[in-house]
Amino acid sequence: MRNWLILFILFFSPLSFGEDKTTLYDFRYWSAPDHTRIVIDKDEDTLFNIQSSDDYVIISFDDAEVLSETFSNIFFKDNRIQKVRIKREKTTIKLIVHISKKFKLKHFTLNPNSKYKHHRLVVDVLDLEKKVTKKVTKTDSPPSLRNQKIILVDAGHGGEDSGAVGKNKSLEKNVNLAIAKKLVAIINQNKDFKAVLSRSGDYYVPLTKRLTIAQQQKASMFISIHADSVESISAKGASVYMLSEKGNNSKLAKQLEASQNLVDQFGGVETVIDNDQFLKNILTDYSRKDKEKQSFELAQEIIAQLDKIGPIHKKIPQKANFVVLKSPSIPSVLVETAFISNPTQEKRLTNKKQQQKIAQSIYKGIVNFYQKLD
Ligand SMILES: [Zn+2]
Repeated sequence: MRNWLILFILFFSPLSFGEDKTTLYDFRYWSAPDHTRIVIDKDEDTLFNIQSSDDYVIISFDDAEVLSETFSNIFFKDNRIQKVRIKREKTTIKLIVHISKKFKLKHFTLNPNSKYKHHRLVVDVLDLEKKVTKKVTKTDSPPSLRNQKIILVDAGHGGEDSGAVGKNKSLEKNVNLAIAKKLVAIINQNKDFKAVLSRSGDYYVPLTKRLTIAQQQKASMFISIHADSVESISAKGASVYMLSEKGNNSKLAKQLEASQNLVDQFGGVETVIDNDQFLKNILTDYSRKDKEKQSFELAQEIIAQLDKIGPIHKKIPQKANFVVLKSPSIPSVLVETAFISNPTQEKRLTNKKQQQKIAQSIYKGIVNFYQKLD
């Protein structure tokens, strides 16, 4: 009888019920100019509920457990979020987020992928007070002058999407942004040009939005900055890609295409553009052939300059069907500056002087391209 009692206790005690609890693993946030994205790593079946009032949001999780070290130190450096409190009510965990701006909420869940092993709840706090006039920073572009050529400089990845990760844990998104900012600063010293960034901080911008920004800015050139990554740690050198409706048959180009295009999954709710329709639009653009030729020439000029400062992976411009390069009416290239998967190249990519050299080379390529065009 006593044995039964022990079994009974073991079986029905709160301890064993504890195993039914789901876990909240980690917590991050990303501040973008128009929204703040809060991401919570959770179990697949964690039940959640989101309520909001004028100045706070309550995200509650039923039967949940928090990994203590993870949530013990929540603090925000964000101009929309004043503070975050965690409250436990019986078996429910409540995350109370105090917000200082007028806002609208959007949320969705994301499945695990190669970079994140947990399921994720994403809550976007959309800023309704976002000022149209941005505060001026050093890397911001000057007001455009007549006859200036506007160049959109796109730093690949950002926020929840880190891009490739180096052997020494450098993140591609940070390297891309550092080089992109340097490139913008160099370009803006030339009065004939005006450079604009597609993102100026560590937040995610959907691929299609990057193209929209180029259109809104009336850009006459689109340059996307990335760093390459493969399994082997010995691969090295820069490559420059241009739009092609067929893409490249090479395995690497295919892999790249898949990874670059797949990053739009990070946007979660973003409507996926119909690739075929998009392509048809490009095909009906009479100037397309001409622009494709121009993209090829621009890629060639950039490769010629990068060749002077370091190894080149592919001497001729590569063709791939990247969404970011499907900007039909302007010459568009994607620069894989070096292999972040190669520790020696990773060191170079994270070195400020080397980043400046890479940016200088891309700039010279742009200038040479325009000189030959005139
Ligand atoms: Zn990339």
